[in-house]
Amino acid sequence: MSDNAQPPVRFRADVLAVPAYRQGAAPTKPGFKLSSNENPFPPLPGIAEAMASRGDVNRYAAAGMPELRAEIGAEFGVGAEHVHLAAGSVAILFQLVHAAAAAGDSYLYAWPSFEAYPSLGLASGAEPIGVPLTASAEHDLDAMAEAITEGTRVILLCSPNNPTGPALRRADFERFMARVPADTLVVLDEAYREFVTDPEAVRGEDVLAQHPNLVVLRTFSKAYGLAGLRIGYGVGDPAIFRAAASVAIPLSVTGIAESAARASLTPEARAELAERVAVLVERRDRLAAALRELGIAVPDAQGNYIWIPETSAGGGVPDALALAADFAEAGTLVRPFAGRGVRISVGEEESLPVVIDLVRAHLARQGGDA
Ligand SMILES: *Cc1c(COP(=O)(O)O)cnc(C)c1O
Repeated sequence: MSDNAQPPVRFRADVLAVPAYRQGAAPTKPGFKLSSNENPFPPLPGIAEAMASRGDVNRYAAAGMPELRAEIGAEFGVGAEHVHLAAGSVAILFQLVHAAAAAGDSYLYAWPSFEAYPSLGLASGAEPIGVPLTASAEHDLDAMAEAITEGTRVILLCSPNNPTGPALRRADFERFMARVPADTLVVLDEAYREFVTDPEAVRGEDVLAQHPNLVVLRTFSKAYGLAGLRIGYGVGDPAIFRAAASVAIPLSVTGIAESAARASLTPEARAELAERVAVLVERRDRLAAALRELGIAVPDAQGNYIWIPETSAGGGVPDALALAADFAEAGTLVRPFAGRGVRISVGEEESLPVVIDLVRAHLARQGGDA
């Protein structure tokens, strides 16, 4: 079927006008997949057994999952009713934007940031407003505060910012929150929280209690390595999550995901997680340092990925798509953002020299062309 074929039934013209989501290409050659910020490690010990123990897939899972929610809540010093589960934290982003913002309303986020943000309001008609990052690839919180209007229903903060890397500092976050109306929802998306090493970075558990309009999002997809199972969570006001549940697709979190998440929170699993995170953080810092030595101005990298800016002025590459094409040609997939830069996930140890060599060769070729 061709891409522009019309459906045989009446559909919304505004929906049909939107290009369908395209997942990053699957690798076609042996190489590394560094395009989706996935975890290169296999699941933590005990996860496979926990999943296999859920043979009851002829039954719907009990929807409330109170034990898992209580275990997560304990981390934040709150009860299970403050914890909301969904099939990935992206599902919670979708629910919150839908619950808060209708046609005529808007929601704000920094840009470039998580690629899902601009389309969250599509079906409801809420207007997405991306506020450009600063020159150091951080949220421009002053500009974001100035962009708040009567119609702003949700503000999404991504810390550390995917794809560029810097985390929000706590003092900056607090200054920003003081400028946000108390009845406007703020979502702190901490999908990469476990990788953050900046001691000044804001941490959801430290600021949640002071801000009733704040929801903190986390996920089992990235550090915990359960991306394919689809389970993430929000922590915040129970009434906010009752509204989110009203627009959620029911029964989306599977019992297998619930069991895997609970097994991920045992002391043994957490100890192993901490070791793996430390390995990935060390690899990240080594990769960033090597790329900076090549002259790339890699912004502060606080997630499990690094950012190579597109720039004609030095400190980056002149064409993000061309760099990504060079990588793909060599069998390694990275994520280009046209006109912005290239995000490279921190993967297997063996991928590091491959990445560094490909960037060096690309820069040499660019220099030769000039
Ligand atoms: C990966 C990611 C998510 C969502 O992950 P889920 O798999 O849906 O839990 C959310 N926010 C950001 C910034 C991400 O990069």
